[in-house]
Amino acid sequence: MRKTKIVATLGPALDDRDKLRAALEAGIDVVRLNFSHGDHDTHARRLRNVRELATNLERNIGVLADLQGPKIRLGLLPDDGIELTNGSEVILLPGLEELDDYRSGGQVALPVVYGALGDDCEPGAMILIDDGSIRLVVSRASHDEVVARVVAGNVAKSRKGVNLPGVRVSAPSITEKDQEDLKVAVDLGCDWLALSFVRRPEDVEQARELVRQQGGEAPLIAKLERPEAIENLEAVVAASDAVMVARGDLGVEIGPERVPAIQKQIIAQANKDAKPVVTATEMLDSMINSPRPTRAEASDIANAIFDGTDAVMLSGETAAGKYPVEAVRTMARICEVAETSPHLVGPIEHSPVAADDVVSVVARAAVAVSRDVEASALAIYSITGAAIQLVSKFRPPVRLVGLTPQDTARRRTALMWGAEALLVPMKSESVDLISAAERVLVDGGIARHGDRIVIVSGTAGSSGSTNRIYVHRIGDPMRG
Ligand code: PEP
Repeated sequence: MRKTKIVATLGPALDDRDKLRAALEAGIDVVRLNFSHGDHDTHARRLRNVRELATNLERNIGVLADLQGPKIRLGLLPDDGIELTNGSEVILLPGLEELDDYRSGGQVALPVVYGALGDDCEPGAMILIDDGSIRLVVSRASHDEVVARVVAGNVAKSRKGVNLPGVRVSAPSITEKDQEDLKVAVDLGCDWLALSFVRRPEDVEQARELVRQQGGEAPLIAKLERPEAIENLEAVVAASDAVMVARGDLGVEIGPERVPAIQKQIIAQANKDAKPVVTATEMLDSMINSPRPTRAEASDIANAIFDGTDAVMLSGETAAGKYPVEAVRTMARICEVAETSPHLVGPIEHSPVAADDVVSVVARAAVAVSRDVEASALAIYSITGAAIQLVSKFRPPVRLVGLTPQDTARRRTALMWGAEALLVPMKSESVDLISAAERVLVDGGIARHGDRIVIVSGTAGSSGSTNRIYVHRIGDPMRG
């Protein structure tokens, strides 16, 4: 049983239903709808397909909607792109989608779909285009135009990303497009919402308010890819329900050489706070074009697991690659083998658990009990999934089965390390909770007659009340 969860980005490569089915069977736990690409109808169609296949395959699959955030992009350029040569000067025109003429006064002119580019940049600032394959240094900046010198040239193409490392970008963290996309994601019933380019805890709080106004309660994943978010790491993790090490933009913003240490720092902080953490981007990048991974990629995935990540993510590999199903299968195999290694992190040491944080105290104790009684499963009742998450973060050495009456909570567990989840109605009497747990674990082939199981519960029907641990041998008479 693989414990590390796999997130896979949907895109044209998995639009064929048979391929999607094969990829889900190969091990996808959570699909990512990337709102940076594709229209709302496309996302809705993909989500419907996933939900139907998950039901047919009897798999618990979560859906994560990833909002674009204040990503700065070039506007439209001629089909073949425009060559930028080293040493030349280019003119960047803020707030424009396209130009009638891509030359101005003998120089190349490029539209940039961000109106405040000239206000934010100062002379000397670095502008990176297309993940840093083009580098410019600003010579002059005004509201209407930015003149910059090309220090690393290449062909600029339509809609490529523009990063401004070290510049305090004044764009709001949640753009108008994000607000529209957030409404759609909530209406579609997405299970997690990821926020791009988060800078401060207030960005997460603002998104939470927007979700609430839309009548939703989807938990929020802060994508950590801006230097400000790393400076505010503790507060951003505390404000979020989960985090993502978004290594693509992070590497462009802070330099790829700093990514490995920051990845460890983010994972450690998320584990300390008992929040799920996803490690993302380029994990099997070569498999976009090749059926086999490189050794370095296999090592990268395993090392993220040794660092203590809960989930690993595929982006272009499954969205637009030639081998999407093989990429999922390969990732699943690498995870399974890594998990048998002595390098796998043991029970995670959280910050000291406060005496009045009874749920955490009970979660930690239940993990120790399940190990010491050699239980075949640790089953935990949870209405929202929060208690399942806490137990998951203590890395139980036995099968972890969340029991929840809510489909939404069940699907949220798809992102949590080692967690399986079953739909079970809540009962008010302890004996009924134990017998229902016994029944579903036996029916699900998780435990057999004579096995010991550990059951964690709280006051039935009330969230956040987890306070009981039962040890039960399957087949023994029930005692409340
Ligand atoms: C990233 O930048 O690593 C990332 C996950 O975000 P996106 O794929 O949206 O660029």
